[in-house]
Amino acid sequence: MFIPRRSSREWLIFMTDAKSMSSPTSFRAAARMRTMGMSRIVQISEHAHELKRQGRDVISLGMGEPDFDTPDHIKAAANRAIAAGQTKYTPTDGIAELKSAVRAKFSRENNLDYSLDEISVAAGSKQVIYNAFMATLDEGDEVILPAPYFTVYASMARILGARPVIVACAETNGFRLDPEALESAITPRTRWLVLNSPCNPSGSAYTAGDYLTLLKVLKRHPHVWLLADDIYEHILYDDFPFSTPAALDDEIKTRTLTVNGVSKSYAMTGWRIGFGAGPSPLIRQMAVVQNQSTSNPCSVSQAAAVEALNGPQHFIAERRLAFQTRRDLVVEALNNTPGLACRKPEGAFYAFPSCAGLLGKRTPAGGLLATDDDFCTYLLDQVGVAAVPGSCFGLAKYFRLSYATSMEALRAACARIAKACCELSD
Ligand code: PMP
Repeated sequence: MFIPRRSSREWLIFMTDAKSMSSPTSFRAAARMRTMGMSRIVQISEHAHELKRQGRDVISLGMGEPDFDTPDHIKAAANRAIAAGQTKYTPTDGIAELKSAVRAKFSRENNLDYSLDEISVAAGSKQVIYNAFMATLDEGDEVILPAPYFTVYASMARILGARPVIVACAETNGFRLDPEALESAITPRTRWLVLNSPCNPSGSAYTAGDYLTLLKVLKRHPHVWLLADDIYEHILYDDFPFSTPAALDDEIKTRTLTVNGVSKSYAMTGWRIGFGAGPSPLIRQMAVVQNQSTSNPCSVSQAAAVEALNGPQHFIAERRLAFQTRRDLVVEALNNTPGLACRKPEGAFYAFPSCAGLLGKRTPAGGLLATDDDFCTYLLDQVGVAAVPGSCFGLAKYFRLSYATSMEALRAACARIAKACCELSD
């Protein structure tokens, strides 16, 4: 991922709250900027880059993107689109050819039937989610987020004046949302429940059976809409069957936005194409948001995404196997490290180990590891491994490692983590 180069001081200005964003010049940030800053994940990555620039040997397991390249046939489709002059504005929420490819994907892979006016294409699934929140959330509305969750959901809700309602999910329940906890989190102000399977950061996935127990609760609360973030659909291991809620219940489908995209499955993070499918009144309002802000997603990327969805799919399974081998390596190594415990995730490319067994210990320099954030700072400073604290995802005492990198780097990183953990004292 490209991260702008900033000095530490610039980062401080970026990362802290809006008060520190007012500078000696006349610049003044809007009040709403108090609700958000650049993500801690980006901050950690930048810190890792800075250490590398200083000559330190750093292994970055912080970012969430496949290390594989975009397949050649997809790049070739983009080149053809450029040569053919597909370089102009397109319809706001996607060309008909791409919407048709998305429609065929939902039908082929998910047994979901959507018409073209129920499909929206944007610059990444992040923009799809933002459009949906922008189009529906009023001040004081609530969005239920099972934790650990992808941090962006909470930030987006907050900037719109809505309230993220965080519901902790126990590791003993596979980090999955408990139906009773869902029932107690719902209020008259609840607008959305966001489910993400396989999950960033826990790697946990829901079976159709798991979903049905949650849908039973939602059916008692018809005002609550469901956002299903399926972006890691194709990164599932050990033949775990993928499931998506809208395909399980026709009534639930009438209030579900199913979100997906090409970033993870096709190693196309930089192309910025995501899509959503749901009831046409919602899709129409999302198009209005996009029309009045960014307009169409990149025309060339749309042509590439058509090829991704309609073209050969064999490399997805090959890459999935590579990810699975990496998962097995990392989970085993972490579980062999004193003080760490890692549940075997069903999917995505993240391990989410507990570091609870190490909190309260002291570093060789005498520092106290009181939190998961302290632990991740220690890992980076002591042994040059960048990881993200679980508290960033709403669940403290854990940390996230992305294993979307080479086996060699993963072996080295795990050995370093083990060394760092062994050097701690009571
Ligand atoms: N959802 C989840 C759960 C993610 O982890 C990510 C990327 N890290 C996204 C959505 C956004 O993906 P994109 O905008 O590239 O489609």
